Amino acid sequence: MKILIVEDEKLLAETLQTLLEARGFETEAVYDGEDGLSYAETGVYDLLILDVMLPRRDGLEIARALRRAHVPTPILMLTARGALEDRVGGLDAGADYYLTKPFDTRELLACVNALLRRQGGQVDELVLGNTALDLSACLLRCGGREVRLSAREFDVMRFLMQERGRVLSKELILEKVWGYDSNAVENHVEVYVGFLRKKLASIGSDVRISAIRRLGYHLEVEGHAETAAD
Ligand code: CA
Repeated sequence: MKILIVEDEKLLAETLQTLLEARGFETEAVYDGEDGLSYAETGVYDLLILDVMLPRRDGLEIARALRRAHVPTPILMLTARGALEDRVGGLDAGADYYLTKPFDTRELLACVNALLRRQGGQVDELVLGNTALDLSACLLRCGGREVRLSAREFDVMRFLMQERGRVLSKELILEKVWGYDSNAVENHVEVYVGFLRKKLASIGSDVRISAIRRLGYHLEVEGHAETAAD
């Protein structure tokens, strides 16, 4: 998750960077409106934190220009001014949310998470075919049915789903799930793939863990040709 901060108060920009990076976000900061617009226009960011009062171009102009250019990045607008007309102005210009300075950091984080979740940025499940892997509850779901996974099963399944479309060697799965130092051997991978296949079948999933001789495993959706990378 990459967040662009456009804020001319460098101390505040730095504080935001520290706060967000501590939560695993990648951040970049720019300090005037011209840079803000040209960085944001690249469309590579998952979220834009945009101050209103900026040198060279203000935040409202930037938001309008981005929306005109069909850049869909969610915008969290920051301003010291809290007057109603300013809030309305910010939202009209294309901001998704408006926060008045000084703000509580918890409020800011809540907004960031809400905006990212809204655009599917913050993933709490992985979906393939008719099946979802719930990342917080360690469950596989299909239709109304669900099955709980053990921690290892979950790690193997998540790895396969994250890298779907790619063939993962047993060695790589072993390294990723059990780590370099464990005494686990490739046979462990086979055993857990066996468990997962049973669990997938038990909930009526159309996801198959296919084995490719000597290469490894990958996921397929029944009835779809080859990989399901879409
Ligand atoms: Ca400012």
